[in-house]
Amino acid sequence: MEAKAKLKNTLVKFISQVAIYLPDDVYARLKEMAEAEDGRIASELYGCIFDNLEKAKTLKRPICQDTGVLQFFIKAGTKFPYLDELEDVIIEATEEATQSTPLRHNVVECFSEKNTGTNVGTRAPFIEWEIIPNSDELHIDLYLAGGGCSLPGRSKVLMPLEGYEGIVKYVFDTIVEWGINACPPLVVGVGIGTCAATAALLSKKALLRPIGIPNANPKAADMERRMKEGLDKIGIGPLGLTGKQSVLSVNIEYAAHHPATLGVGLTVGCWATRRGAIDIKSDLSYTVSSHREA
Ligand code: SF4
Repeated sequence: MEAKAKLKNTLVKFISQVAIYLPDDVYARLKEMAEAEDGRIASELYGCIFDNLEKAKTLKRPICQDTGVLQFFIKAGTKFPYLDELEDVIIEATEEATQSTPLRHNVVECFSEKNTGTNVGTRAPFIEWEIIPNSDELHIDLYLAGGGCSLPGRSKVLMPLEGYEGIVKYVFDTIVEWGINACPPLVVGVGIGTCAATAALLSKKALLRPIGIPNANPKAADMERRMKEGLDKIGIGPLGLTGKQSVLSVNIEYAAHHPATLGVGLTVGCWATRRGAIDIKSDLSYTVSSHREA
């Protein structure tokens, strides 16, 4: 098979897998959270969630009707041999997976407000590129951005004196006001940087880090842990109907910032946080590290 077609077929399968199966870390954390609940409503809701996941596996159908807008975060080795074709391949794979999985048609063009019917449109799927020097491999993180879970997302530039307390307040105020729109329990991605744009992008990248792997900076890791403990105490619980825990994880990513500004971004994932990670070698052999069980 021609290399481009082989790469496209791999991505079509990968996209479908991400829509149908939760990543292993999200599944495992949901199991832990379900076992920790003893209230009747919370236990029943977790029962529904796992029943839903089993049916998705058996029927080979997406976990949620909202299969989101596809977002690809790429780490491309400068020597990966198919870089020139990659963007076209991703677009073709998105169109094909939309039909074969199937995925809901979620891409609406701005200003005409017409649904393209293919999940492809202007800058959709969203593709973000990072160049990796002296490598012939490709790493792709795929995220399916649903509507409800995207709703609490926002970013803001704080005055420097607001400090890290200001970041915590911003995150807590947003989750208290908007969190239940995102089908809890939630994955909370927090970005810190100079401006609203940096912070927002880093908050999305924070969601790509598997649950259970803290930030490498001990102070950031401590903030992740303390924010998770605090958010759990709000008692949002599964689907917002109360419970002992509210969040699967709080993940922080940061960039060194301007002394006069502290940008904070927030991106939220729902109980059905669908993301996948695939590594593709130059001979097009691949490993899906996010879904070993599937
Ligand atoms: S928030 Fe998540 S689980 Fe809820 S409808 Fe949206 S994609 Fe589905």
